[in-house]
Amino acid sequence: MSQRIAIVGAGQSGLQMALGLQANGYRVTLLSNRTPEQIRGGKVMSSQCMFDRALQAERELGLNWWDDACPPVEGIGLAVPHPEQASARAIDWAAPLDRPAQAVDQRLKMPAWMEAFVARGGDLRIADVGPDELEDLTREHDLVLLAAGKGEIVSRFERDASRSPFDKPQRALALTYVTGMQPRTPFSRVCFNLIPGVGEYFVFPALTLSGPCEIMVFEGIPGGPMDRWAEARTPAQHLAESQRILQTYLPWEAERCERVALTDDNGILAGRFAPTVRKPVLTLPSGRLVFGMADAVVVNDPITGQGSNNAAKCCKVYLDAILARGDQPFDQDWMERTFDQYWQYAGDVVAWTNSLLTPPPPHILALLGAAGQAPALAARIANGFDNPPDYFPWWLDPQACHQLINQYVAEAA
Ligand SMILES: Cc1cc2nc3c(=O)[nH]c(=O)nc-3n(C[C@H](O)[C@H](O)[C@H](O)COP(=O)(O)OP(=O)(O)OC[C@H]3O[C@@H](n4cnc5c(N)ncnc54)[C@H](O)[C@@H]3O)c2cc1C
Repeated sequence: MSQRIAIVGAGQSGLQMALGLQANGYRVTLLSNRTPEQIRGGKVMSSQCMFDRALQAERELGLNWWDDACPPVEGIGLAVPHPEQASARAIDWAAPLDRPAQAVDQRLKMPAWMEAFVARGGDLRIADVGPDELEDLTREHDLVLLAAGKGEIVSRFERDASRSPFDKPQRALALTYVTGMQPRTPFSRVCFNLIPGVGEYFVFPALTLSGPCEIMVFEGIPGGPMDRWAEARTPAQHLAESQRILQTYLPWEAERCERVALTDDNGILAGRFAPTVRKPVLTLPSGRLVFGMADAVVVNDPITGQGSNNAAKCCKVYLDAILARGDQPFDQDWMERTFDQYWQYAGDVVAWTNSLLTPPPPHILALLGAAGQAPALAARIANGFDNPPDYFPWWLDPQACHQLINQYVAEAA
């Protein structure tokens, strides 16, 4: 294949694309602002739990290298503290996933994929790409993909206000990677805890640099009692703050954590960003085009754990479109049609994820409560994480939601 393609950003989508194109005979230039060693030796970036369909996109490219080493995530559970009774839960259920999920620390995965790309003859350049470098890249390549995640450069793509209801971060985010946590039985799971007015906490098994671990994810409402990460100045203080939150609001989670230790001093993160959808095509001053992919153009709050899943799925849509294009030019019309195809899926993920950032309406409270009485409904909700379009129309439509609840509750009875 004679076409030359450049990819800016060596994360989930950029690397999956680079290796996928390489396997199909394309000449690929990959640009990363960090070396594999810097990524491996840096801070954790994500909790990166990926469900089956996204993992399937990796399997199709032969990139599932951690299936044996990574502990499986076998289900999803939900708990909501009782508003009046301390230590009791108003909602508490768990359901198995049809197929397991997994979370491989990006500090492990991305350097390994980068090194494979180079070993297979790929051109990896270490550079912090700015507008001038984009001009150079578009001159030398037939297609330039921007997969720079939350990097500064993505702000060059115009924000799509009609698809971005929030202009500020909706959660204060934190990650704490630990060992020594008591596992949940009889099946491992994402334990999702919703603390009304305070935020959310979820935790699940994963694989990090040193082996199996558990990843704690905190989603605090800004300015609230789960938004005190700035006061934690050392890794030990970050761990202590994680434990304080669990002891205060989620005693059943604190119980599992009596003997936890950080996986490493870089196994922590705190930050925030506004969920944003951008227009997918950037026109440079020269008139040449750059095509945005994954988080660069559709970035969600991590509350539903969809970003890496989206990145893998976006990559698949784009890769298939590139292969189908053959030798024809990658013009603006092709870029917009390709993005629209991804948006048909991603639009539902955005709507579902954003709905969880505001207080739940009565029909969602009824749904989450009813799932405790109807295991098949709990399983339907759990498995939706693998394919969020399955939540529609009922997630946003109270009448359709009550119909669904009645159907499952009647079946359970
Ligand atoms: C706290 C937290 C928890 C999360 N949990 C989950 C989860 O459980 N499940 C899930 O699916 N997703 C989760 N995500 C989201 C997920 O990590 C991202 O959505 C996913 O990594 C996006 O992939 P990407 O390829 O778009 O970008 P990234 O993986 O972010 O990669 C972008 C790369 O581009 C590089 N880069 C940036 N700017 C430049 C530049 N100018 N020049 C060169 N290189 C550049 C960056 O260094 C980076 O390596 C979470 C995110 C956060 C913050």
